[in-house]
Amino acid sequence: MERKSSTLFETIQAQLDGVAGILHLEPGIHAILREPMRELAVSIPVRMDNGETRVFKGFRVQHNNARGPFKGGIRFHPDETIDTIRSLAAWMTWKCAVVDIPLGGGKGGVICNPKEMSAGELERLSRGYIDAIWEFIGPERDIPAPDVYTNPQIMAWMMDEYSKLMGYYAPGVITGKPVAVGGSLGRGDATSRGGVYTVVEATRHRGIDLSAATVAIQGYGNAGSFAAVLMHEIAGSKVVAVSDSRGGIYNEQGLDPSKVLQHKTETGSVIDFPGAENITNDELLEMKVTILCPSALENVITGKNASRVRARIVAELANGPTTPEADEELYHNGVFVIPDFLCNAGGVTVSYFEWVQCLSRYYWDEDEVRERLAGHMTAAFQAVLAESLKHKVNMRAAAYIVAVARVAEAMKLRGWT
Ligand code: GLU
Repeated sequence: MERKSSTLFETIQAQLDGVAGILHLEPGIHAILREPMRELAVSIPVRMDNGETRVFKGFRVQHNNARGPFKGGIRFHPDETIDTIRSLAAWMTWKCAVVDIPLGGGKGGVICNPKEMSAGELERLSRGYIDAIWEFIGPERDIPAPDVYTNPQIMAWMMDEYSKLMGYYAPGVITGKPVAVGGSLGRGDATSRGGVYTVVEATRHRGIDLSAATVAIQGYGNAGSFAAVLMHEIAGSKVVAVSDSRGGIYNEQGLDPSKVLQHKTETGSVIDFPGAENITNDELLEMKVTILCPSALENVITGKNASRVRARIVAELANGPTTPEADEELYHNGVFVIPDFLCNAGGVTVSYFEWVQCLSRYYWDEDEVRERLAGHMTAAFQAVLAESLKHKVNMRAAAYIVAVARVAEAMKLRGWT
């Protein structure tokens, strides 16, 4: 029988429903957590370089703020939808809870193609987005950050726009900013660094020698490229394959991640890297490696290819790369999946540090950031692993158990039901 295809958000609701029983979740709390608290849809008029005005559609979804202000990135993507943003907002709630930082979950997005826009157009769009949502965000209310196709420069423009509207310098409104305007040291590679810390824990648990491990990375943006460098540097592993939206490259002797990044910066893609063989994204996902890191977009490991995944560990640096059918298949085949909202929580953890530093106007050195990041990531991994072993469920369900229990406790104590 054909399975009714569900939206990403319905999948997330089903994941929550799946742990509600184990947690004996109160029906009222469960019902609140199934829906976002607020959704905002805005139209953003932008003067383009050719003099025309184009109107872009933007969103901000605020899922839950029981444990602290809403927190989550802003995506600029041509295929953006409210369903994706809604899903990612809910994941942020679970992500902040699983690493135990005092923030809730939110997410924003604008339907646009930044690759086809000039710097001036992007700046006007970034400022326009803040003009449209400023009343709903703020250092004590909702704190955005970078995500797919947004970056520190965009965060700087957004912070500037918000500060102008407020009439004072307000760096705590947004994170992932350049260091010169209130960013934190160590934010740039934080998502990947945090992910590598969870990989270290996972290999220890599975008795895998990291220095002999091979790694394939799908996606070579912020998360993927830093992951390649750090798997090489921190873990001593060999990165044999990487890819981006145009295709992948392979060299069984190992690639030099920094040189690959330089090649991508110069040519626009990792493909045709000297000394490597070009491969497809599908081939990369099915490669026999120790660790596979999906680091780009949603739904890349699906019911169609999951049975062919031969990695021993899948470290989900992207949000939502594995569909529920694929998840079951991987678990059944003994592949250890480090779920997205645990694996990629390093970014928001250092965002939290950035926010703390902005509010106190006192900035830490890089070692302090890294040490505290390692502490949060390791503790989160161990808490999730303990629930996974206790309830005999996969790491994703276990991560939900840890996160939902924490959010539910805050809601109950605040008297929301
Ligand atoms: N966009 C990142 C994520 O999905 C970071 C969010 C943040 O730093 O607030 O986790």
